[in-house]
Amino acid sequence: MNYKLNNRDILYNDAQLGPYPDHLLKRVDRITTKVPGPVKNRSQLESAASRANRGEYGENVAQERRRVIEKVPIGAALFEIRTNIKEINRLKKNPVATEKAPLPDNTRVMSRHLKSMGYFLGADLMGICEVPQGAVYTDDEFGNPIDVPYKYAVVFSKRKHLLTTLASTGHDWIFDSTSHQVYQLLAVWSDTMANYIRRLGYEAEVSNMRNYITLMTPLILAAGLGEVSRLGIALNPFFGANFKAAAVLTNLPLLPDKPIDFGLQEYCSKCKICADQCIVGAISTKDKELYNGYMTWLLDAKKCAIYNSINKIGSVCGHCTRICPWNRPHTDPCDFKDWDGDIKRLFVDADARAAYLREHNFRDELEDTHKWWIDLEEIDGRLVIPKSTKYGVIS
Ligand code: SF4
Ligand code: SF4
Repeated sequence: MNYKLNNRDILYNDAQLGPYPDHLLKRVDRITTKVPGPVKNRSQLESAASRANRGEYGENVAQERRRVIEKVPIGAALFEIRTNIKEINRLKKNPVATEKAPLPDNTRVMSRHLKSMGYFLGADLMGICEVPQGAVYTDDEFGNPIDVPYKYAVVFSKRKHLLTTLASTGHDWIFDSTSHQVYQLLAVWSDTMANYIRRLGYEAEVSNMRNYITLMTPLILAAGLGEVSRLGIALNPFFGANFKAAAVLTNLPLLPDKPIDFGLQEYCSKCKICADQCIVGAISTKDKELYNGYMTWLLDAKKCAIYNSINKIGSVCGHCTRICPWNRPHTDPCDFKDWDGDIKRLFVDADARAAYLREHNFRDELEDTHKWWIDLEEIDGRLVIPKSTKYGVIS
């Protein structure tokens, strides 16, 4: 239906939609990772996490993996609420309306409308892409085939709580909960948008935590929400790799965003902080290599998954994202209020953070003052003070 909506300039102009000025980033026609191909669709069963769950890395790893969420009560609470919400959504999924809503026949307007809805719900960055070849899993973790007949992905990203991540070591008794806090929000937001799109008369499915039917990194790259980093995951110029993402997949006609290029490929080729600081040496110090059709830095996913399972000084690990210099203070939206798109300023900030980290043995001063959580570990149904905790005086 070709009509113009009154009083809704924001849907037609180029103004910034969300909290971060991503409209000022350089856009390019292709992602900054070279893809000589061929890219093969993967099964979730091939992931290191799935292999660890199934005992391929030893029974001890599998046993620890099974309790990895339950063992920290804040993370377990976040996870349980999210699971309950998802279960209700799964059982009471609303049908696709039989009649299509009278929407503007303008893919740019509809794209800005859905991205604005994502920001209304609480996202930090939103992007839209066509679902890239190879991004959809062939099977879920139980071996059930996944069928995703959708052309577009609306991608949500949400930064993890900055002060908590800065006060954390990245592999202690809070860091995994910083992920679950965001996974829970992303699940609610993406399920809400999928429900809305079905009300408009179009099919829509979600790809979110415990229901990831797509890899997220190819979607994040294609939707212009980040570039691939040495970590093997996407990193964006505003809050580094300190975020999680989810997507709504649909055939509602949309206008894809373009990928971004802020110079991360060159930065990561020289930086290597994450590789030097990874506890188990899982991050490559070498140049990029070919992996499933992508030229990228190779992560030893097995080493990483094993440490994530058996970490005895906390739960899971995200130490590399925590100490990456792009995860830095003063990255709230208000800190970019006067930013004019000059990417050099962001490099100055990342360099300053790298220098600070080197000078302070890769610790943040907030580690001494801002640990608001209480270290607790669930063992055999009881919560105890973990043996590895670094409480001060216990009276
Ligand atoms: S620590 Fe350095 S090399 Fe590693 S992802 Fe961050 S910027 Fe790239
Ligand atoms: S999550 Fe931990 S173990 Fe895995 S690559 Fe990062 S620092 Fe290494």
